[in-house]
Amino acid sequence: MTKLRLAIVGAGPAGIYAADLAIKAEKAFDLSIDLFERLPAPYGLVRYGVAPDHPRIKGIISALRDVLDRGDIRLFGNVDYGTDITLEDLKKHYNAVIFSTGSILDAPLVIPGIDLEGSYGAAEFVSWFDGHPDVPRTWPLEAQGIAVIGNGNVALDVARMLVKHPEDLMPTEIPANVEEGLKSSPVTDVHVFGRRGPMQVKFTPLELRELGELRDVDMILHDEDFEYDEASKTAIATNKQVMVIDKVLNQWRQRETGKASRRLHLHFYARPHEVLGEDGRVVGFRWERTEPDGEGGVRGTGEFREVPVQALYRAVGYYGSPLEGLPFDSARGVVPNREGQVLDGDEIMPGVFTTGWIKRGPVGLIGHTKSDAMETVGHVLRSQADWWTPEHPDEASVPALLASRGVQFTTVDGWHALDAHELALGEAVGRTRIKVVPREEMTAISRA
Ligand SMILES: Cc1cc2nc3c(=O)[nH]c(=O)nc-3n(C[C@H](O)[C@H](O)[C@H](O)COP(=O)(O)OP(=O)(O)OC[C@H]3O[C@@H](n4cnc5c(N)ncnc54)[C@H](O)[C@@H]3O)c2cc1C
Repeated sequence: MTKLRLAIVGAGPAGIYAADLAIKAEKAFDLSIDLFERLPAPYGLVRYGVAPDHPRIKGIISALRDVLDRGDIRLFGNVDYGTDITLEDLKKHYNAVIFSTGSILDAPLVIPGIDLEGSYGAAEFVSWFDGHPDVPRTWPLEAQGIAVIGNGNVALDVARMLVKHPEDLMPTEIPANVEEGLKSSPVTDVHVFGRRGPMQVKFTPLELRELGELRDVDMILHDEDFEYDEASKTAIATNKQVMVIDKVLNQWRQRETGKASRRLHLHFYARPHEVLGEDGRVVGFRWERTEPDGEGGVRGTGEFREVPVQALYRAVGYYGSPLEGLPFDSARGVVPNREGQVLDGDEIMPGVFTTGWIKRGPVGLIGHTKSDAMETVGHVLRSQADWWTPEHPDEASVPALLASRGVQFTTVDGWHALDAHELALGEAVGRTRIKVVPREEMTAISRA
């Protein structure tokens, strides 16, 4: 019987769902799957993107873990595609590969002053508070006033993590260095800016509502943003999500403010114009007031406003990284593909597939990566005629190759060891988990 030896690069939700769907699909051949992951632990942005105070979403890890625990998928963690293993290597050992490497970088925001000290990308900050091993351990939380640019859920996560009192994060899995950093923050005011109106935000209602529940934080909104145009009124009448957002924001507008020690300001119709600096550091943010253009968009009004801030975070989207040996669409930050089949120009690259955020760009929730994976896996399974013919299809050859290169790879059993260790660290202080951050420590615990 034919056997499909399938490599999947990237053990985030997209890669794990692809593996699961491929195993469960009806097919006339055997299948064995190896999952390669750059980090010593699997789960991608579910572990290193989803905010620590979203335990329900973090709980998706249990479902992903069940897939890995079944024992029919091998995990090689701490293996970087492009450094530790190449496309040529994969062709020698597998029939096909799916790339599901996601997006970890910040999309650029091209305005004057964006490179000043104190101006950060949301992705960097998220990686820090979620204990990603490849970012510095300390984060400069020295600002009293902070601007967050963006009107999507990542902007909300960043604003919430900045303004929330650290004691209220204590039940979560945040690592010790993050706890210390947040405790030292002198923040009093966080300002969130969106180019369009309150009825055009990309927040989901659940995430928005959560802001209003923060202890000792006043929600500050401005009446001028709530003079709805026709497009906004139609959106409220026809879209349930928008209707809920309208309700939530208007409830906050009725609240009494002035007693809380921290404030979260929501500014709409605010187009970023410049990050203001002095001696190379952020000292303020200038924006242009916009207005509805009658066609669902906005136009500038020529009126500029400023707020003093000492730090600025741009949450204007994520961006994928190019992969060695593969074409890359640098405008969109994705691997060019047709329904998950990687394209070199107009030609399909035989045996090379992609799924998840690196396939379709950094939009959508974890659940979307499942339907995405289904499409890609369908093409993998149906393209038998184009599969590679590997020289070394035997399963033992891959760990031998990695070991011969001195790669300290981790496995599913290694993840269990790290997981148990983190749970024990948490239990000792009455918390569910405390994450281990340094890569060497994660690897050592996993390989012990
Ligand atoms: C800040 C933030 C908060 C979010 N919150 C939520 C939420 O609350 N709810 C929700 O449903 N969705 C949320 N999402 C969206 C969700 O995280 C994504 O939809 C999902 O993680 C995308 O899955 P993926 O597998 O494509 O990418 P990723 O999750 O990024 O996984 C990609 C994996 O590939 C690995 N990799 C990358 N390069 C290499 C390489 N060269 N070699 C080997 N491995 C490599 C990475 O280490 C990573 O583990 C959030 C996203 C962000 C950024």
